[in-house]
Amino acid sequence: MSDRLHRLLSERPWLLADGATGTNLFEAGLKTGDAPELWNFEHPDRIESLHRSMAEAGSDIVLTNSFGGSRHRLKLHKWEDRVQAVNETAAKICRSVADAEGARQGREIVVAGSIGPTGELFEPLGPLTVAEGAEAFAEQARALAAGGVDVLWIETMSSKDELSAAVAGAATTGLPIVTTFSFDTNGRTMMGVTPAEAVQLFHSLQPRPIAYGANCGVGAAELVTAVLNMTGAADPGDVIVAKGNCGIPYYVEGRIQYDGTPELMADYARLARDVGARIIGGCCGTSPAHIRAMRAALESHQPAAERPDLATVIDRLGQVSIGAEQQFALLRCGVAAAAETGEAAGRRRGRRRPAGGGAAF
Ligand SMILES: [Zn+2]
Repeated sequence: MSDRLHRLLSERPWLLADGATGTNLFEAGLKTGDAPELWNFEHPDRIESLHRSMAEAGSDIVLTNSFGGSRHRLKLHKWEDRVQAVNETAAKICRSVADAEGARQGREIVVAGSIGPTGELFEPLGPLTVAEGAEAFAEQARALAAGGVDVLWIETMSSKDELSAAVAGAATTGLPIVTTFSFDTNGRTMMGVTPAEAVQLFHSLQPRPIAYGANCGVGAAELVTAVLNMTGAADPGDVIVAKGNCGIPYYVEGRIQYDGTPELMADYARLARDVGARIIGGCCGTSPAHIRAMRAALESHQPAAERPDLATVIDRLGQVSIGAEQQFALLRCGVAAAAETGEAAGRRRGRRRPAGGGAAF
């Protein structure tokens, strides 16, 4: 079992993950509706070149081109019987680039096996049971493991059941697991999960993921706020992941583009670090140029002594949803209430202590 990610986390305060896969492959010629995973066979050179450019830009963690590699997603392209080949090939391509680039640069690069949602709804809303989901994820995870990934990276999840199924499936390989939700619907996932609820779920998972957090969604400000709302509920030792989109999406000639500049993503990386994330990367729209700017920003950044509040995030990265704002306010009330309760308890103890002390002397 690879302990590369665990080791790097114990040696370094932060690690830089990579940027987008999908949007960068569109730039390289992928057509809307085509499965990016098929390019592992049709254009392995372009997948290699994307991984290499992320590693050259400074990524410590590079994700395989296997996001839609479960049998349920591959079914859309009538490739449901090729789960093994799709995922193993994706892992091998990424492994060879990471090892070659790592050797050239004299550092270790983690290969993370990307696992995205099945695209199916789970019972009682849809046809899939958690057990069936876990089996499909296990099939994908085993193939990624066979191709040599260091860690399984379950991302863009919105349902607690599906995330639990994915962790159960991934766990069959014995590899470490990282998992992230996408909070893209007014501060919640599409299925209604808040960042604070997500933290509770992550804490209850067996095996417990090595790191957890948020990815994708609706912009850097919203992503950092989700992480802010997570770290408010997290344990101090938790490793939190921030992998946000490159600004806000907009349509140009029928194609989604993202408005984030490298400067914005550099500031996003600093803020993600300040709010407590230790693994920081980009999602949709994040190019190697953005990753390079993020690397430089993180390397020269001294994290703020105090966690920034929401006003700072909005001021530097832009507006966030009302839902995310309310969660932050609630969490702050909760923290204030807890501090007050603690103070009151302290005062009560304080009153008792002199009396007890007096009796002892
Ligand atoms: Zn994304």
